[in-house]
Amino acid sequence: MPRAALPRQGTAPCAGAALTEHPAPDYLQTTMATTDTGILSREELVAQLQGEIKTLAREKNAVILAHNYERAEVQDVADYVGDSLGLSREAAKTDADVIVFCGVHFMAETAAVLSPNKTVLLPDLAAGCSLASTIDAEQLRAWKAEHPGAVVVSYVNTTAEVKAESDYCCTSGNAVEVVNSIPADTEILFCPDMFLGAHVKRMSGRQNIRIWMGECHVHAGIDPENIRLQRSLHPEAEFLIHPECGCSTSVLEAMSAGDIDPEGVQILSTEGMIKRPAISAATEFIVATEVGILHRLRRENPAKRFVAANERASCAYMKVTTLPKVKRALQRLEHRITVPEDIANRARRAIERMIAIGGQHPLSPVPETTIDPGE
Ligand code: SF4
Repeated sequence: MPRAALPRQGTAPCAGAALTEHPAPDYLQTTMATTDTGILSREELVAQLQGEIKTLAREKNAVILAHNYERAEVQDVADYVGDSLGLSREAAKTDADVIVFCGVHFMAETAAVLSPNKTVLLPDLAAGCSLASTIDAEQLRAWKAEHPGAVVVSYVNTTAEVKAESDYCCTSGNAVEVVNSIPADTEILFCPDMFLGAHVKRMSGRQNIRIWMGECHVHAGIDPENIRLQRSLHPEAEFLIHPECGCSTSVLEAMSAGDIDPEGVQILSTEGMIKRPAISAATEFIVATEVGILHRLRRENPAKRFVAANERASCAYMKVTTLPKVKRALQRLEHRITVPEDIANRARRAIERMIAIGGQHPLSPVPETTIDPGE
């Protein structure tokens, strides 16, 4: 089983990108003194930047898409906030000429694959993904050569080049269905998320799945120990798992392995996660995913209380995108993300198969007691 060398946070996360310095925890505070409009409070500065961005977006006929894990003030200026699949769908159906993609590089690539005639911009090229960078096309080709006849299933957190080498893409929501749709006697190469791979192998009962040993650096903060601690501190809280990204697939795997008590657990899509608190009798919720989604949960459910499974579960790559960078992206129409046509055509085939096999339907496995209100 190949083991990928895992990049540390701060190393180059994707081709042509380097995560230089992380933004200061409250970068707007540090820019206050340098603004040419005098001394502004943080709120005034955020509002001013958001106003400028909205004006620029209108002038350029641009739509701003933001992932749930982005900074709160970036989510607030976006036209649409969602998960990577939802953002791809928005990118594909928008009438705008320009898409400012506030997410990470592979997501912007997916938007470019699905919307080849639009200008897709990534405000900071350092917005990579530690999971996607654990495998490249050359490594995947070499792995395929070792297993002729095997079918490749790639998690959506991969580069366009890796998708182009894959037979199917999958999300954490439809990975089991995708694998079950492949004839039982066909060998499967599953990449790059080893936790999702282990979970899929267990749930499908198949032995002929080989798993690439990639992982997301954020998941380390959301381990069963932290989860048990938070659940003992908040015994009445409902426990929400959002397996959208590599950061929480390890929780799925721990649950299917029996390391996490499934009592009171809800496995939900992004929209299900946002809507669940309103229909639940619980007043408190423990949330196992990257902490960025807490902003939207709190904003849309102000009467309920939300606790992160671990406050430190934060994706630095998502946080490199700041309001000044979004503004500059619109002013200069930078950094344009393009995918060569032959790669885009092959990647599109794998993505479209993903969408066809339940990509827009409930997560699987769906716990018996769970109805995802987002579906
Ligand atoms: S949370 Fe992990 S898998 Fe998701 S974008 Fe960040 S590094 Fe990648």
